[in-house]
Amino acid sequence: MGRHVSHWINGGPATGGGREKDLYNPATGTVSGAVQLGGAAEVDTAVAAARSAFPGWRDTPLGRRSAILFRFRELVRAHRRELAETISAEHGKVISDAEGEVARGLEVVEFACGIPHLLKGGFSENVSTGVDAYSIHQPLGVVAGVTPFNFPAMVPMWMFPIAIACGNTFVLKPSEKVPSVTLRLAELWAEAGLPQGVFNVVQGDRDAVDAILEHPDISAVSFVGSTPVARDVYTAAAGRGKRVQALGGAKNHMVVLPDSDLDLAADAAVSAGFGSAGERCMAVSVVVAVDPVGDGLVERVRQRLERLRVGPGDDERSEMGPLVTDDHRARVASYLDVAVTEGATLVRDGRNHPVLGQPQGGFWLGPCLLDHVTSDMSCYRDEIFGPVLSVVRASSYSQALDLVNSSPYGNGTAIFTRDGGAARRFQNEVQVGMVGINVPIPVPMAFYSFGGWKQSMFGDSHAHGTEGVHFYTRTKAVTSRWPDPTPDGVSLGFPTTG
Ligand code: NAD
Repeated sequence: MGRHVSHWINGGPATGGGREKDLYNPATGTVSGAVQLGGAAEVDTAVAAARSAFPGWRDTPLGRRSAILFRFRELVRAHRRELAETISAEHGKVISDAEGEVARGLEVVEFACGIPHLLKGGFSENVSTGVDAYSIHQPLGVVAGVTPFNFPAMVPMWMFPIAIACGNTFVLKPSEKVPSVTLRLAELWAEAGLPQGVFNVVQGDRDAVDAILEHPDISAVSFVGSTPVARDVYTAAAGRGKRVQALGGAKNHMVVLPDSDLDLAADAAVSAGFGSAGERCMAVSVVVAVDPVGDGLVERVRQRLERLRVGPGDDERSEMGPLVTDDHRARVASYLDVAVTEGATLVRDGRNHPVLGQPQGGFWLGPCLLDHVTSDMSCYRDEIFGPVLSVVRASSYSQALDLVNSSPYGNGTAIFTRDGGAARRFQNEVQVGMVGINVPIPVPMAFYSFGGWKQSMFGDSHAHGTEGVHFYTRTKAVTSRWPDPTPDGVSLGFPTTG
């Protein structure tokens, strides 16, 4: 059998947990190895390591922390291809896409390299006579991250570069479906000179997450995953007094107005709907075609889907890989027949799409297109998280906007139009955290923050950018006076300015 994926605790690989889970190559459906599943004991060991590393790391000068981050950045860059291959082998996405996620994660590392600037506080001289006031940002202590399967490197890299740069120590619980790349990142941290115990990985499933939520020495939890779990994690962590940001699922709408360039919109819908087989939280899963563009747009999308090359992630010709597991493939495909029963038109059935190399086995589902979808259908209501694009027809901009705003999710959205006024109105009126104007996947750059609204996000601080720095630090306000040596006597009055 293939590799055994372990934990990473206190600067080196660690075994433990008693349970294991098979890992698969999604392109062939064969078992490629196994991952250990840690529980309360492994979480406790990792937290103890992180806790004892904290004082030394907190007091490490900013410039020295930044130098380690620069070295980590160079190492991740140098190993970008290898990291992408590791991701692709477990997730199934094509290697170029996996390289893209490593690049987006690197942008957060680059942002975190500027930590000396980001941690600057404020200073006010003479808030009262001879009195100065200032604020300082201090790390929280041991913080934890729990991450989903769809971005095995990028989502953890939204979290740990900033948390560590701020002076915290980190315990990561990656998705048990795609665990390997985080171990490689741990090795690169060690090579970059990060002291042992600052970055730890506990592999596992729900047991490990429960142990993280219950652990009294963990100050903050960053979670990214599906909405039901995000909600539970938020409630459990906040109930124990932890700081928590929990990013959930999505149903991202792309509104196409009548004046838009339909070829551009069709290209965008296919790219954003089917990249990474639709397993992206920012994937477009609903196109809202405003009359009269529906027929023309659906036909253009259909033509493009015919030509999509589906195949193994490591085949350079492939544009789209398999789904992550067999169960997930079956669940995604189940929406197609139900949608037809509910009245939608199945314009393109991905179950018949050819696969490059015709591999035996594998979790394959080609691109699927549903038209005349309405808001009461399950394919519209649920986050399918696969290569299924639903087209809803709307009679006006207002109806399209109402549809987007009625969704319980609010992660990403996009509008396609040539009308600047309409775009500006949409940007103002739409109830969604990340908005694209003629940009179908509006993932913010690392120096902005990533996060949705409504049931796509529980908590206050979005991921990375200055909100990330805010999340991983707490502010202390200091009022200081170095009195004139001349005594000025006792005063029981409340301190006021003057
Ligand atoms: P998931 O919710 O099943 O799992 C996420 C993490 O939680 C994993 O580490 C998993 O081990 C753990 N987990 C699973 N069930 C749990 C439970 N009952 N209690 C505690 N922990 C549990 O999500 P997934 O299938 O790995 O990832 C896909 C989901 O993540 C989609 O809904 C997608 O939209 C979402 N996602 C959101 C964002 C975002 O930024 N909002 C980004 C990426 C993915």
